[in-house]
Amino acid sequence: MPKARDVHAERAQRYATLQKESATVQVKGLSKRYGEQTVLDGFDLTVRFGEVIALLGPSGSGKSTLLRCINHLEQSDSGEIRIAGKRLGFRVDGRPMTQGDLANERASAGVGMVFQHFNLFSHLTACENIAGPLRWVHGMAPADAERRARELLERVGLSHRADALPRHLSGGQQQRVAIARALAPNPRVLLLDEPTSALDPELVGEVLDVIQRLVDEGGLTMIISTHQLRFADQVADRVVFMSGGAVVEQGPAHEVLTRPRHPLTARFLSVMG
Ligand code: ADP
Ligand code: MG
Repeated sequence: MPKARDVHAERAQRYATLQKESATVQVKGLSKRYGEQTVLDGFDLTVRFGEVIALLGPSGSGKSTLLRCINHLEQSDSGEIRIAGKRLGFRVDGRPMTQGDLANERASAGVGMVFQHFNLFSHLTACENIAGPLRWVHGMAPADAERRARELLERVGLSHRADALPRHLSGGQQQRVAIARALAPNPRVLLLDEPTSALDPELVGEVLDVIQRLVDEGGLTMIISTHQLRFADQVADRVVFMSGGAVVEQGPAHEVLTRPRHPLTARFLSVMG
């Protein structure tokens, strides 16, 4: 085991290296209103290739809305989102996007998402939850889709539950299936929206372990909204703290978590920690 000091030096080095990588996710001036309420207010964020972001913020600060906008599950009111340089949500001919256009863009942009409440198809087995979308959305041949699904289930330690329906799985197992499903088409970006918030405390660890392993394997750009501060410290390169639909403070994870500069961040950390 290296000394703690070395770990921090390594992380500082990794942080500096990451800032030179190309931008995988670029969010510029993103605004989103629901009726009279402005939920995202000129939000800016650039995420580098391979970077792991922990998105922190009080409930209602706009974390889910941001992630849903990045994945085009919500249409923003203004601003732009680029994935690997490509601007999403706009047709070249200027006509409004249809749901079909959006589904195609989402698939080709390579953005995968994991939801707080798993969102598995309740009538499909674990294996079919993964193989189904590979066939319907990505046009994969049935035998290939099933092989890929079983491979992914093995990766999240659930080979033995491949033929189980979601209701026969624990919450932790359901979330691991959801992670496997999100990874199946080989996304370049993985968005995780409070992946452990709906779990009983004893099931949180198995899901965090799977995410930790993904981070260790590297190469995947990730944005994880979470209230798990210790976990954020372990896996994230950068912490982005948001409040009221904008970034209040961001920086190297350990630095922000241990020495917050903004009073709102400090207050949030002291309440959560
Ligand atoms: P967080 O994920 O940080 O808790 P959200 O993005 O879920 O925050 O919500 C931000 C704000 O937007 C909240 O005030 C919430 O009530 C509001 N909101 C979110 N989704 C909708 C919606 N579909 N319709 C109306 N208001 C919404
Ligand atoms: Mg949320």
